[in-house]
Amino acid sequence: MIYLDHNATTPPSAAVVAAMLPVLTSVWANASSQHGPGQDARRVLAAARASVAKALGCKTAEVVFTSGATEANHLAVRGLLGAAPAGRARVLFSSVEHAGHLKLARALASAGTPVEFLPVCADGTLDIDAAAQRIGPDVALVSLMAANNETGVLMPVAGVAALAHAAGARLHVDATQFIGKQPFCFADSGADAVSLSAHKLHGPKGVGALLLRQGVALAPQVLGSQERGRRGGTENLAGIAGLAAALEELGDIAAESVRLSGLRDALEAGLARALPGLHVWGQRVPRLPGTSYLRFGQLPAEVVLQRLERLDVAASSGAACSSGGSEPSHVLSAMGVPPEEALAAVRLSLGRGTQAADIEHLLAALPPLLAPLFLTSPLEPT
Ligand code: PMP
Repeated sequence: MIYLDHNATTPPSAAVVAAMLPVLTSVWANASSQHGPGQDARRVLAAARASVAKALGCKTAEVVFTSGATEANHLAVRGLLGAAPAGRARVLFSSVEHAGHLKLARALASAGTPVEFLPVCADGTLDIDAAAQRIGPDVALVSLMAANNETGVLMPVAGVAALAHAAGARLHVDATQFIGKQPFCFADSGADAVSLSAHKLHGPKGVGALLLRQGVALAPQVLGSQERGRRGGTENLAGIAGLAAALEELGDIAAESVRLSGLRDALEAGLARALPGLHVWGQRVPRLPGTSYLRFGQLPAEVVLQRLERLDVAASSGAACSSGGSEPSHVLSAMGVPPEEALAAVRLSLGRGTQAADIEHLLAALPPLLAPLFLTSPLEPT
């Protein structure tokens, strides 16, 4: 199988599994217990926290372990909003946030919070001028992703941090797709809170973290004494050890980024040569190195995905969480892409396991399967 769905999830690496197994089998005590095994668990937790903090450029006290990015996003938004001073009630989300995060936005709006959605430009980047106009003294927080999970387009986090802070608002950044693929340092990010998830960087599922800048007030959502009272619940110690191992293993992100963007560019160039009507979203703006979000004319995504499946290539028509539905992607809609083009969107996301031979195989095998469709399709490629 050729796995080109790394933005959906990544396989746990051997080092991650090796770090988790002894915790599962031997360090299973509750890290809050006072006895010896409990102290052992506490030591494992402290070591993992130190390792995560070192890898991400933050203080150990700034790491709040969660069950993943969805929970971290909820904690950040509800938590920062809950601790916002009186008179700051507005919450701004970019209109291309992850589908789960936009559900939270809509839930807040139906409960009476003034929620607004910041527009993006046709190339998928945040419309910074529109953001500047909307960020005012009554804004509690802005929630912006660092990189989009569908297009891979990078967002102007530093610029929005400056705007938010000048207005006295907080900035939450969903860096789930960014961390592990681009160099990241929390201290330099400008964000007050940053979400991440282990399974996007070869760690296990069901674990992640919210990095919360020291001194920033947060109203806890899941109550309990763990994580300094900011997130209750007995810690997922093996998962946390896995997250730490995944971050430790990242290595030279800049070099991997060059390798992956080279493979991605070769893939896009090869497909464009072999087939008519190839369109790649986000191609002219900074984007994640391994993400290619494209359409073949207006061939419906499911037709292309069927052919890819025949070739034993795993890909998706967009976000895993919303693919399978027949609705056009909200990200493409926000970019002004018409539905008939959005329904042709296929996402190929390359990652650590992707090799040049995989791309060569795809370039040799896919065009012959797709080319005849252009002759028979009633939808003319554009
Ligand atoms: N945000 C983004 C940008 C994502 O891509 C994802 C995963 N699809 C999430 C949040 C949710 O992460 P998790 O699966 O850890 O809850």
